[in-house]
Amino acid sequence: ILSTGTPTPSHATQKFLDQEHRLLIDGHWVAPATGKSFEIKNPSDNSTIAHVAEGGQEDINRAVSAARRAFESGPWHTMTASERGKLIWKLADLMEQHIEEFAEIEALDNGKPKAVAQAADVPLAIDLFRYMAGWATKIEGTTIPVSVPYLPGAEFHSYTLREPVGVVGQIIPWNFPLLMAAWKLGPALATGCTIVLKVAEETPLSALRLGQLIQEAGFPPGVVNIVTGFGETAGAALSAHPDVDKIAFTGSTEVGKLIVKAAGETNLKKVTLELGGKSPNVILPDADIPSAIAGAANAIFFNHGQCCTAGSRLFVHRSQFDQVVEGVAEEAKKIKLGPGMHPDTGMGPLVSQIQQDRVCGYLDAGFNEGAQAVVGGKRGDSEGFFVEPTVLVDTHPNMKVIREEIFGPVVAAVPFDDIEEVVQTANNTIYGLAAAVWSKDISHAHRVARRLKAGTVWVNCYNVFDASLPFGGYKQSGWGREMGHEAINLYTQTKAVTVQLS
Ligand code: NAD
Repeated sequence: ILSTGTPTPSHATQKFLDQEHRLLIDGHWVAPATGKSFEIKNPSDNSTIAHVAEGGQEDINRAVSAARRAFESGPWHTMTASERGKLIWKLADLMEQHIEEFAEIEALDNGKPKAVAQAADVPLAIDLFRYMAGWATKIEGTTIPVSVPYLPGAEFHSYTLREPVGVVGQIIPWNFPLLMAAWKLGPALATGCTIVLKVAEETPLSALRLGQLIQEAGFPPGVVNIVTGFGETAGAALSAHPDVDKIAFTGSTEVGKLIVKAAGETNLKKVTLELGGKSPNVILPDADIPSAIAGAANAIFFNHGQCCTAGSRLFVHRSQFDQVVEGVAEEAKKIKLGPGMHPDTGMGPLVSQIQQDRVCGYLDAGFNEGAQAVVGGKRGDSEGFFVEPTVLVDTHPNMKVIREEIFGPVVAAVPFDDIEEVVQTANNTIYGLAAAVWSKDISHAHRVARRLKAGTVWVNCYNVFDASLPFGGYKQSGWGREMGHEAINLYTQTKAVTVQLS
């Protein structure tokens, strides 16, 4: 594991880390009502990099009141769509001036390689804001012809308005801290909602830096409120709050169910969910094998496997099984483990000790049930929370490593004999977030893509994301879609207006 020669953070990043990190409520950085703070660790060496405020129930209440005020009155409420769009675009411009700083914050806080954050997370977040800025001015209703059977001869003019859902609570995970904040904030701002964002306790820092830029861009007070704190306290308070109109959540399926329950037991707030996955990656016999191997390695090892879309079940035709498994194992061996800040790091640590223990627990369960590791299979020998990139074989369909989301750099390779069989096995999961198929035969690829039960299917590629593509899950992978036009629909509600003309 790399360690010597790890650069120290830039002056700007260090200055940010050393600040007192408070809550953003009603346009001010305020101390939490709890009076408490908690430590933020660098997962590559378990050192403390910052302290952030521990928001609780009372802080959530204050933030929701501020968001309500901003929604019902005040400048946001009367701002034109074009003005909203300009503000969002301005935020994207400000982010662009701080790409490296954001990348360093993500590397230190989450553990991902700085170069990856700089090439993917931060630019994708900026692009999402720009895409959503464009939507602000394009939210339209329709006109609808009406003929009411019991009012013969009466004339009406009917139309729909799409109105913002109101005060939105957003709860995000730690795997893509800045990008998840952008996916949530972008469409909410474009549609004119106001927001209380509860960031993950593991990785709150990039959202706090984003909060500073939100202030600098000039969003009115109360439009975006950011609360750092824990799930069982701040998160639960937000999802049960009677004055929140919608919760948008990304995280585990288990917590997703708690959110739905809280909504049902309180005010039936609307709920959208991005949850777990156990995504199948299917290599058909007519695939271009070298690119399928590279794609399969990327599908599972990108972001250390801490992706809801991770290609964690790799299905390969029996005739090419050994070749593909060997190829993916070779790719795994090439990956250098190290701190996110080290320029040669290919894979950083997992986000926390809890996550490292969880992933290693899955590995132990797999080995006890008879799975074999072709490569990897152990935690890294270091203070940091590293796990070796791992390829498992000799699994069977009832093993935990096949059925449950591991959320680490662990792929199970499974041979198949025919297409019918692989489609059935690929769909044999409670999840349905993503899937991929590799084939040079265009009809094969399209046919399999149609039959895979997943919200995203990639053909001859993996982990391709764009702000314009709707993203979300079938089955227990979620409710609703993020990004694209569909996200706009889910942050608005339709009002039908009917005017009697005659
Ligand atoms: P989690 O679902 O517990 O946490 C995600 C967010 O929900 C965090 O902000 C957390 O504070 C909040 N939260 C937790 N409990 C809550 C509650 N009772 N009410 C309201 N909010 C609550 O995820 P985790 O513990 O960090 O990870 C556990 C597993 O979840 C992972 O191993 C992985 O399988 C999965 N996961 C999936 C995603 C995804 O993108 N789909 C992201 C992170 C984790």
